[in-house]
Amino acid sequence: MRRFISTMLLVFIISVATATSPKYLFYFIGDGMGPSHVLGTELFLGECQGVIGCPQRLCFTQFPHTAFVTTYSASNGVTDSAASGTALATGHKTNNGQIGTTPDGSEVSSVATWAKEQGYAIGISTTVPINHATPASFYAHEKSRNNYKEIAHDLLSSNFDFFAGGDPIYSEDNRDELYTLYRNNGYTIVRGYNNYHTQKAGADKIMLFQENRETQIPYNIDRDSSDLTLAQITKAGIDMLSRKSDKGFFFMIEGGKIDYASHSNDAATMMHEVLDFNAAIAEALEFYNKHPHETLIVVTADHETGGFVLGYNSSYTLNLKTLAGQKLSADSMEELIVETDKAQPLTWEATTHLLQEHMGVYYEQLGDKEKKQIKETFDNAEECTDDKEREEKLRQLATYAKNIVSRTAAISWASGNHSGTYVPLYAIGVGADKFKGVIDNTDIPKIIKAVAGF
Ligand SMILES: [Zn+2]
Repeated sequence: MRRFISTMLLVFIISVATATSPKYLFYFIGDGMGPSHVLGTELFLGECQGVIGCPQRLCFTQFPHTAFVTTYSASNGVTDSAASGTALATGHKTNNGQIGTTPDGSEVSSVATWAKEQGYAIGISTTVPINHATPASFYAHEKSRNNYKEIAHDLLSSNFDFFAGGDPIYSEDNRDELYTLYRNNGYTIVRGYNNYHTQKAGADKIMLFQENRETQIPYNIDRDSSDLTLAQITKAGIDMLSRKSDKGFFFMIEGGKIDYASHSNDAATMMHEVLDFNAAIAEALEFYNKHPHETLIVVTADHETGGFVLGYNSSYTLNLKTLAGQKLSADSMEELIVETDKAQPLTWEATTHLLQEHMGVYYEQLGDKEKKQIKETFDNAEECTDDKEREEKLRQLATYAKNIVSRTAAISWASGNHSGTYVPLYAIGVGADKFKGVIDNTDIPKIIKAVAGF
């Protein structure tokens, strides 16, 4: 009898424990982060340690629950970030380009709104403009993702508690007016992570942006100490949101530039963005470890970008450690070449030195075809009489260098755009076991809704 009672008690305790709803919800979206982006970054870390394999796993690939996620939109097998953001936020398929609306234009609410209705504090953050497609899908309703002005105003009517990332895309002439409107509606606009700590006291709602007005946080590989990191944004958001409501919080954090670097087929820059994303998730994991019975962390992607493949041509020659030689994004490399040339016209020696120092591209070690490509481009730039044309030629050098880095690392890009492949999902915490098998992106907010009891 006693054994029966203790068994019943155990069953009761387990059922109560599993019935508990998460008080703290983290929703991480790696924009453009396909399976190879994740595994490639782990293999890169391994090769940097001289090991083939994954001795240093990313924190989220160690989560106990995983799923494959389909990402197609209502209008195409390959989604854009507006349709996939809408699916991930609202549980509805829509056409590429639409935000928080179904194909017929009807407005649909997001999991962030459902959480707000339950009294949760809400945070929305990214590394790209705060009115860009993915974050916008959680608070805006627009027929077009390009309605940036309207989305910047939709943001205001959401009344969410914490926004962070790049400044909104908005007409420069009216930008001050927009910020005044935000302030008049109770938002404290904070610039830079250090200022967050000095200004948070007494702030009811916060917008955390770069120190200087910038619509993007620079790539991780390019940052200096004054730039925000996604980990800092996550830390600030946790601090703000956990003080804001006793009920709990819902916090969406987007690694928005994994996608940008993948559109640009810039592998080293992409992997540093994945590492930035991982560092942000590590902050959430630290919070989870303090509140394991009250927290759910879901990590996924909106789609894959670049058709990124770990392999090149017909040989087994993956050589990811070569990516460690690249110290700047290809975009910044372009600017560096152009600016250096403006200060003092580049000589051939200075040019090859720049490519070597910042991209890890050693001219003497290149094959004949690549040598010819670089040398001819430089010679063409030398012959240009028009400054603009010279600049264009010099910019091409950075593009060629970036492609050489990919080729040397033996990785490939099928596309400069998105692909329709599965994306991975990783989950830990209360209700994480509900994410399993092959699911659709529209299932994710529905599962969150079910486990949170919204
Ligand atoms: Zn994209």
